[in-house]
Amino acid sequence: MSEPAIPLSQLIKNVHQCINAHAEEVAELDAAIGDGDHLNNLQRGLATLESMSAELDQMPISDAFSKIGMSLMSTMGGASGSLFGSMFVTMGKTAKDQPVTVTGLSEVFVSGVESIKARGKADIGEKTMLDTLIPASQSLQQDAANGVPLETSLTHMQQAAITGMESTKDMLATKGRASFLGERARGHIDAGARTSQLMLCAIADEVIKYNN
Ligand code: ADP
Ligand code: MG
Repeated sequence: MSEPAIPLSQLIKNVHQCINAHAEEVAELDAAIGDGDHLNNLQRGLATLESMSAELDQMPISDAFSKIGMSLMSTMGGASGSLFGSMFVTMGKTAKDQPVTVTGLSEVFVSGVESIKARGKADIGEKTMLDTLIPASQSLQQDAANGVPLETSLTHMQQAAITGMESTKDMLATKGRASFLGERARGHIDAGARTSQLMLCAIADEVIKYNN
């Protein structure tokens, strides 16, 4: 696989800014039905990636994903650190065999989401980040298969991520810390679902801007 069209450093910077802009909200979500550390875990992970982003820009995308994954696993902490870490390690492996096209990258994304499902032993409907990531990755994969133009595919993906994130509000949690709360978790959006949606939307916005 060759260089990505948009530098990873730019995406990392924008994702970090987006999470910082929603810091208070994210902290409150994990405080309500988790243990309140999700924001810190994510900011630590993103700060690590930002510190090595110049190096990441010089690497083939598959190597960059592997390095991101290993760094997140060792520095981020929390369930989300090992889940996002595993996602990127897997995406690094899949990216070796895929061209940098919307179809290729959607397959890479889908493989990453599959690895979160396997590692977290979870699926859609359990009030986790997967409620954002599964519909978003499926939307991109479907649009790629149908030859939908990039900008439209990314807009669809953003919509799927938002709908998925919002769907966690009324769910009971069966995985993660929120599962200990039973009915009390209902009425709250899952923190990981919200941050996954924010990050996907920030990435899509930036790619759309870059291509215009
Ligand atoms: P921790 O739960 O260890 O405190 P974080 O607060 O960083 O870790 O991340 C919590 C988020 O991780 C949750 O909001 C949820 O989206 C996600 N999560 C937790 N357990 C799982 C799982 N088994 N599968 C998928 N996602 C999970
Ligand atoms: Mg937590």
